[in-house]
Amino acid sequence: MKILVINAGSSSLKYQLIDMDTRSVMAKGLCERIGIDGSNLQHTCVLKALDKKTITKPMKDHGDAIQMVIDALVDSEIGVISSMDEIGAVGHRVVHGAEMFTDSTVITEAVMKALEECTPLAPLHNPPNIIGINACTKIMPDTPQVAVFDTAFHQTMPAHAYMYALPYECYEKDRIRKYGFHGTSHKYVSQKAVEILGKDAKDLKIVTCHLGNGSSISAVCGGKCIDTSMGFTPLDGVPMGTRTGSMDPAVMTFLMNKGMTAKEIDNLVNKKSGVAGVSGVSSDFRDLSAAAADGNERAALALDMFAYQVKKYIGSYAAAMGGIDAVVFTAGVGENDAATRKAIVSGLEFMGIKINDSKNETRGTVDITADGGTVKTLVIPTDEEMMIAIDTERLTK
Ligand code: AMP
Repeated sequence: MKILVINAGSSSLKYQLIDMDTRSVMAKGLCERIGIDGSNLQHTCVLKALDKKTITKPMKDHGDAIQMVIDALVDSEIGVISSMDEIGAVGHRVVHGAEMFTDSTVITEAVMKALEECTPLAPLHNPPNIIGINACTKIMPDTPQVAVFDTAFHQTMPAHAYMYALPYECYEKDRIRKYGFHGTSHKYVSQKAVEILGKDAKDLKIVTCHLGNGSSISAVCGGKCIDTSMGFTPLDGVPMGTRTGSMDPAVMTFLMNKGMTAKEIDNLVNKKSGVAGVSGVSSDFRDLSAAAADGNERAALALDMFAYQVKKYIGSYAAAMGGIDAVVFTAGVGENDAATRKAIVSGLEFMGIKINDSKNETRGTVDITADGGTVKTLVIPTDEEMMIAIDTERLTK
């Protein structure tokens, strides 16, 4: 079965065509500047190992973009299939499924209605996801489609983990609670970890650390998420590239009393803060490491703050699960930044977390546990597209 995976943003659309029989990517690409001058499609035909080809053509909306993707996929030169009918199903990334979706779901009219109801919780992200689904429905009405939610994996959290200590009406009326994000990634790497450890998921207590431009940590106990660091929005948790992570919420009202508007504060805490805000250097960990090595104290401070907060989550989630069998690092920083991994786990030897320095320098899927470490420390590259394809196949085959 061949599955088209779509991740639609407001003016962009990423795609991958995955052959599920071989679990391999046949083609992938990105439509940029949809509805803006200079729209283009960047297509890579992986199957024939061709170089990326950029096609510049006006795309007035996501419908045009999907049509261009299909045209590229069936093209005799850069394509990988002979007709659209070879696409068995389409899997869509949808950011927010609120409490309505505890798993991925086949898209029906009722599901579309429910997605609209989730939109107030993700006003920037869900609308383009919905537009992407509608565009596919128009172009390929007979192909089954599945929505895969960033929030679904976290819906197994117990109430004592997801509730905020606000008046209960805030939850009842406005659904204010912790939802968590990056669920598709946490699910993928936790399942991979179970495979690597060769045990039954129900016997394992795993902390998954998705550390990238946005970062979140999850506690996965018996295959189910029981807590996660992101909250009502993806602002919560550890410091990120440009986001604050958790802090005393009274900082917000303090700034408001000083005259900042809600919009200005939103911009400050989401776009101007995090390791970029503290360091004044960059949101990119490579730049921060280089600056810290050059003696930039604020870059070093930003890196220390990040590692310290991630370390605290690992410890607290071990407490929440009553033990820990494995720690998994994934995403841009988690997969590539050996020094940050080392800084995070240093001091956790008392819990049995010990890594081997030379294994820690290796890339790819790797067990970096040192001799004597009783907790497995694994680096597992995430693959959200593959997880979307796996769920899409499961629900449509
Ligand atoms: P992601 O959001 O998962 O795509 O991660 C992006 C982030 O990963 C970048 O902003 C960098 O901070 C980080 N990153 C990527 N490659 C490296 C590397 N080789 N060393 C350190 N950090 C890296």
